[in-house]
Formats: sequence, structure tokens, C-alpha cells
Amino acid sequence: MAYQSPISPGYSWYEATAGERPAYPALDGDLTVDVVIVGGGFTGLSAAVHLARAGADVALVEAHRFGDGASGRNGGQLGTGQRAWAEELEAEFGFARAKALFDLAEEAKAHLLEFASTNGIEIDYMPGQISVAHKRRFVDDYKAHADVMASRFGYPHISFMNREETAERLGTGAYFGGVRDTGTGHIHPLKLVIGTARVAAAAGARLFENTKVTRLTSEGKVRVETASGTITADKCLVAVNAYGGNLEPVSAAHVMPIGSFIGATVPLGKDSPVIPGGESVDDSRFVVRYFRKSKDGRLLFGGREIYSVSTPGDIKNAIRRQIAELYPALKDVEITHAWGGYVGITMPRKPFVREVMPNVISAGGFSGHGVMLSNFTGKLYAEAVAGNRDRLKLLEELKVPQFPGGTRFRSVLLFLALNWYALRDRL
Ligand SMILES: Cc1cc2nc3c(=O)[nH]c(=O)nc-3n(C[C@H](O)[C@H](O)[C@H](O)COP(=O)(O)OP(=O)(O)OC[C@H]3O[C@@H](n4cnc5c(N)ncnc54)[C@H](O)[C@@H]3O)c2cc1C
Repeated sequence: MAYQSPISPGYSWYEATAGERPAYPALDGDLTVDVVIVGGGFTGLSAAVHLARAGADVALVEAHRFGDGASGRNGGQLGTGQRAWAEELEAEFGFARAKALFDLAEEAKAHLLEFASTNGIEIDYMPGQISVAHKRRFVDDYKAHADVMASRFGYPHISFMNREETAERLGTGAYFGGVRDTGTGHIHPLKLVIGTARVAAAAGARLFENTKVTRLTSEGKVRVETASGTITADKCLVAVNAYGGNLEPVSAAHVMPIGSFIGATVPLGKDSPVIPGGESVDDSRFVVRYFRKSKDGRLLFGGREIYSVSTPGDIKNAIRRQIAELYPALKDVEITHAWGGYVGITMPRKPFVREVMPNVISAGGFSGHGVMLSNFTGKLYAEAVAGNRDRLKLLEELKVPQFPGGTRFRSVLLFLALNWYALRDRL
């Protein structure tokens, strides 16, 4: 078997199909640079590209291999806007700020696609996103959402689907209605990780894998310590998301890990009734189910039953049970790959971007909506280093309180709270 992430469970279909994955050296000795980045997922790698292209001397250190965290293992769904619907943000912040956050996310989407295409990164993009109501009472919200997106936010690509159309487009009658978004789509995330690393290296960023940062301090100058060397820098981006442990305590108090799991079936065949249009899907459950077809016709199905960081003993069977609830004909379908990763979530499900020490900015907690936003946040960080912090500020100003319970109890409290919501999904 080829390389498998040591920090996320299971061998993923992405790992099996990503193609060549060049290895980068470990840090060996002491370095002084302009900017040091800790963490080689989308956030860190994208920042490395844009900093290096702007002429900064930048070093990025990743504890394992690029993409071993959430970035190489996720559902690949780009979505539209922020994780919260634009109308919810409008109710909270007023129209101008909600529109600015929506526009930022639209730019993030366009940027990701353009970045991949101009740099020759094949990301297996497939268009279309469907969001569906697992309870009848949510259907009107979806209908109103389609209207408000077109009329207030200038986004005409979302249309409402009644129950019949939903059943036809998904190949299951399990949902009561929903919306279809033709302005977005889904990708093979690990291919984007590998391609972004290649572009960063070509732009002159110094990239190190298998180099875990064990200590981070800042007294004006930032110092990063690892077992094989140190890096001293003027500035630092902490991009460890849900995988940072207690490396940096402020981030750890605001961004917490939640396990999420995906299974890939055998190719279902071109006559399969499952999502014949090839869109990606998410549903209205708090413990969201997200699924999509791959380019070669597999069903990639993600979800989990209860909330915790622990891994179900048998991911394949746990996922197959969920598939069978929607697609009884697939109750015995072969699942060829099953894996998981840790989603970095925050209390309000908004990104956590903050200066946590002098000259040290932490970015993460995209709460299951980071494929486009984490990439773009890396670019915004580079913009901020170059002197324009206005757009990064839009994210920095989001109110994200820390999780209650302190270091000892916050995992327990989170477990209890999330399972309460998970229970409500079933009521
Ligand atoms: C199963 C799953 C499904 C998801 N599905 C979707 C989806 O469909 N759509 C969507 O938009 N989002 C989704 N997400 C979320 C999305 O993947 C993340 O928001 C995004 O990848 C975050 O990127 P990142 O670079 O901030 O963090 P990560 O990719 O997690 O990278 C953090 C990196 O930091 C490294 N690191 C940690 N500590 C250290 C240290 N001390 N020294 C050096 N390196 C360190 C880790 O090894 C890791 O590689 C999903 C996440 C998961 C886990």
C-alpha cells in the first residue's frame, strides 16, 4: 500500500488516486527567513505560494506530509458563500458586512478554480451542488434561500427543487426538497494540495515535511523549534487547524477537532440512479451527511453517527449503514476505501483568524467549509504581510469566543453539546 497519513485514520481513495506525490526534505539546521508558516494544508501552502510570489523569503514546516490533515482528505465540496447562509449573516451583521463576506467567499471560489487552471493542476472539478432538507419543516427555508440569494445577494445560480425533483436528482426519495446550485462544484482535494506545494516550491518557498514544530515563541522576532533545527522569522502564520494540539494555546482554545469519515464505493456504473447529474450533496442534519460522485462513478459518502474525536471501529460498516438508509439497493455495496480526518470547528462555526502573539497570526476553524476559504485565507495572509490587511480583517473581526471548560473540560463539554444536537437530528 502506498503512503498513508499517520495522523488521520484510514487509507483514502484520494491517496490511492492522487498520482505522483513528491517528497520534500525535513528541516536540517537553523534558518532565518522573513515568514515562517507552521502547517502544510491548504491554508499554509496557499500562503507560501503568495508570499513567495510577492518576493518574501518564506519557509513552511509540516509535521508529516502535505495534506495529511484535513486538506488532503475532505469531501471536496466547494459550496457557496460562508458556512452560514448570507441571510443569517445579514441578520447578525447587517447587509453591507454580510455582502462583503459573501463576495469574499465568491472570490475565494473563483480564485481556487483559476489558480488550479492557470497552474496546470488537474483537480477533477465536477460542477453542481445540491443541499437538501431531511425534515419537511426545513423546505420553506431552502425556498426562501434561493429567492434571497438571487434578489438580495446577486447570485442567480441557486434554484429551488420540490420533493419530486429532489428525488430524481438524488436517486432517493429520502429528502423533502432542497436547492441546486450550478455556480459551484467539487474537487479531488489531495490533487490540489500536491499541485499547490509544487507551485509554492517553484515560486521559491522553502518547504519542509516530516518536521514537527515543538515550540513557538515570539518576542518581536518569532522562533520556531523542531527536533532538527530552528527557524527565526519576522512573522509567522500558524496554520495547524484541528491538528495543532497545544502548540499554540489560544488557537487550541478556539478551534477544536471533530472526526468526520468518508467511504468510497466501487464505481456504480453509468446507469446508476444515484446522483445522475454528478453534483455534490449535503443535507440539513446537524451531523451533516455529505456525498458526491467521483469522476469514475463511485459514491463518496461522508458523515458520522455521533460526535467525538474517536474513530468508529469499522468506518466501512458505519458509512455503509448510512448509505443504505438513503439507497437501500446499495445495502451490500462494496466500499473500497474508508478514511477520516479532523474538522477544525469553532463555537459559532465561523473561521478563527487572529493575531495570537506579536507578529503571529493563526488561521483555521473553517468548520467544514474550508476547501475554498482556507486556500483564500492563505492568500489574504500574504496580502496582509505585504501591507494590506483590510480583507484579512474581515475574517479577523468575526466574533469567535473560546470553547468553555478550559483545557481540562472543553472536550467533554463539546462532546455532550454536539451529541445533543445529533440527537435532535433524529427527532
Ligand atoms: C473528513 C472531512 C471532510 C471535509 N469536507 C469538507 C468539504 O466537503 N468542504 C469544505 O469546504 N471543507 C471540508 N472540510 C474542511 C476542510 O478540509 C478544512 O477546512 C481545510 O482543509 C483546512 O485546511 P488547513 O490548511 O487550515 O488545515 P489542515 O489541512 O488540517 O492542515 C493543518 C496541518 O498542520 C500540520 N501541523 C499540525 N501541528 C503541527 C506542528 N506542530 N508542526 C508542523 N505542522 C503541524 C498538520 O500535520 C496538518 O497537515 C472537511 C474536513 C474533513 C476532515
